[in-house]
Amino acid sequence: MALKNIIGQERALGMLRGCITKNRLAHAYLFTGDAGIGKRLTAVNFAKALNCRERVMSYELGVKREKQNSELRTPDSELIIDCCDECPSCIKIDKAIHPDVFFIAPEGDGGQITIKIIRELEEHLSYKSFEGRWKVAVIDIAENLNQSAANAFLKTLEEPPAHSLLILISSRPELIPDTIRSRCQTVRFSPLPLEKMTELLKQETQDTNHKLRSLLSAGRLGDALSEDMIGRRDDSLDMLKSLRGNIEGASWADRDSMEEWFEWAQLWLRDIAVFKAADNTGLLINYDKEAEIKNISQHADLREILALSDKLNDIKDRLRFNLNKELTFYHTSILLKESLGYSL
Ligand SMILES: [Zn+2]
Repeated sequence: MALKNIIGQERALGMLRGCITKNRLAHAYLFTGDAGIGKRLTAVNFAKALNCRERVMSYELGVKREKQNSELRTPDSELIIDCCDECPSCIKIDKAIHPDVFFIAPEGDGGQITIKIIRELEEHLSYKSFEGRWKVAVIDIAENLNQSAANAFLKTLEEPPAHSLLILISSRPELIPDTIRSRCQTVRFSPLPLEKMTELLKQETQDTNHKLRSLLSAGRLGDALSEDMIGRRDDSLDMLKSLRGNIEGASWADRDSMEEWFEWAQLWLRDIAVFKAADNTGLLINYDKEAEIKNISQHADLREILALSDKLNDIKDRLRFNLNKELTFYHTSILLKESLGYSL
């Protein structure tokens, strides 16, 4: 794929394309916005467009604009630069084997980006590029840079090697130190509006649950297109019921599913609270689970539900500090039993 195939992020793409066209690239970008919204995909294709050997240049947008209003046509605004998606450079970047493009993500059970990883990156960036025009480093989940890694990384940001470009990706940019954020150009990615998402899903998937998928994904196309999204949502409800009832033999399969459950839990609590407050099933996100939501809400008090939501959110924030899975499970179960008024 290429930048032109990324859907629904026109503002972010327009800005990045403008940087390439005008040859005014920042040393570092910070891509922000919800998870699953296209930030990483854009970073990969931006790196491809920077290093492509057969760059595609077109005046498409300019032609369209000319039809609408000829005065809008200016040489700068109409030129679109994109990758070809076919040359060796594009292919290697897609496969993450390009010698000048680095992908960094948290490692190990604690899910941190450590100083060791940053030192290795610095070393790679210090060499002259092998094949590309630009050395590009994509740092995913950048809020997981630990303290010493962040300090080391700051030096790279302050004195970036020539022809190197850093792209930090984060859905929680507020957790990244100010000193780092202020040295990056922020590019914001937005969720897709519900109508647009539903329309896209009708084109892209065989699944007929367009409305449910659109609502559950909260505007994140990556999630909406995921085949097992509804199944994972259903599993999260089973887990919620286990947690407030009999927890014998139940637990999250691994760290990722534990983290994901806390995301889903917020959505369930949102629906339980909405139903409790408004008694209106038309406002539910999980509208196909109306009976279950109604049932759980009967055992709960609105203030307790909202307080529980805050408490689970706090736990979710602390998961990145490597909380013990069994203890977290037990603690969460107690909170759910207390707040949702359930007893065996
Ligand atoms: Zn190419």
